[in-house]
Amino acid sequence: MSEFRKDPLSDHWVIIAPNRAERPEQFGLGSLERSTGRCPFCRGHEADTPAQTAAYSATGRLIDQGPWQVRVIPNKFPAVENVREQRPEQRDFFRSRHGVGVHEVIIECPDHVTAFSHLSDQQISLVFQAYRDRMAYWRGDPRLAYAQIFKNSGASAGASLEHAHSQLIATPVVPTQIENELVRSADYFQQHGRCVFCEMIRRELADPIRLVEQTEQFVAFCPFASQFPYETWILPRQHGSHFEFTEDGRLVGLAVMLRKILGRMEHLLNDPGFNYLIHTAPFGSTHLSHYHWHVEILPRVSNTAGFEWGAGDYINMVTPEQAAHVLRFGREPDGRQT
Ligand SMILES: [Zn+2]
Ligand SMILES: [Zn+2]
Ligand SMILES: [Zn+2]
Repeated sequence: MSEFRKDPLSDHWVIIAPNRAERPEQFGLGSLERSTGRCPFCRGHEADTPAQTAAYSATGRLIDQGPWQVRVIPNKFPAVENVREQRPEQRDFFRSRHGVGVHEVIIECPDHVTAFSHLSDQQISLVFQAYRDRMAYWRGDPRLAYAQIFKNSGASAGASLEHAHSQLIATPVVPTQIENELVRSADYFQQHGRCVFCEMIRRELADPIRLVEQTEQFVAFCPFASQFPYETWILPRQHGSHFEFTEDGRLVGLAVMLRKILGRMEHLLNDPGFNYLIHTAPFGSTHLSHYHWHVEILPRVSNTAGFEWGAGDYINMVTPEQAAHVLRFGREPDGRQT
């Protein structure tokens, strides 16, 4: 049983998913148990997981069998239910709807690699190809409005299995965070006649104090009002609202930049857990002038505490300018080695 419930005060959707409580917790085990335990994501253990929905060869071809490099499977403990029949929506004071949707796992490599930054650029490109293809695929499903792609790496970031993997959750509702970004960016566009994300890129390049990395295709910076220490965003320089329309060549550029930044975080910040996620426009449109897809990287170097839970606003103890300097040059602004 899964259910979307709308909080009447905050307007947030909550997914009530008791089924998730049954999933195994690999990180809770001692290292010995973990090393002798059988990993369901390793190549050769395909029978331990639900049947794959897609698999890619080393050249990025979709394959039915044979040695895969990236494999996509339904999550065995999904947060939402992939069913055709839906219970009717409740629209009274307590608003709820059936927790219909799709929850997939993207297994990022065939061997038991746990650190994303240890994957090759080519392998990460394949992972991003899988993200794009799955998103494009689910876009055609009339039940669904949005697909959230995200990665939890490390127990502190919410991962329960250590083999490198990421997830896709597609839902009939547009997530609250996306809805907020859509509303704010539409407001900005109406007032200024341009995309707020394009404007951010322009300003971060003009005065590069928060710049982490740039190429011809992408720009990475620590946002002006970063909520978390070392929070970093990657944006394509060319305006585009929908990630699922990204061409192969750009996916490679994105993979290279992401790996570089995560490698630096691992090295400079003492191998923190992290999340990254893709924010993109909902399926119901094909082009939005005011919205610009992006990747947000959130290393777990601090805990969310009482003030943040209470206020919904964050206290960030590292200035975004200092964070960017460290991630760009590998040292603190005053010259101390980190
Ligand atoms: Zn494994
Ligand atoms: Zn833009
Ligand atoms: Zn965002």
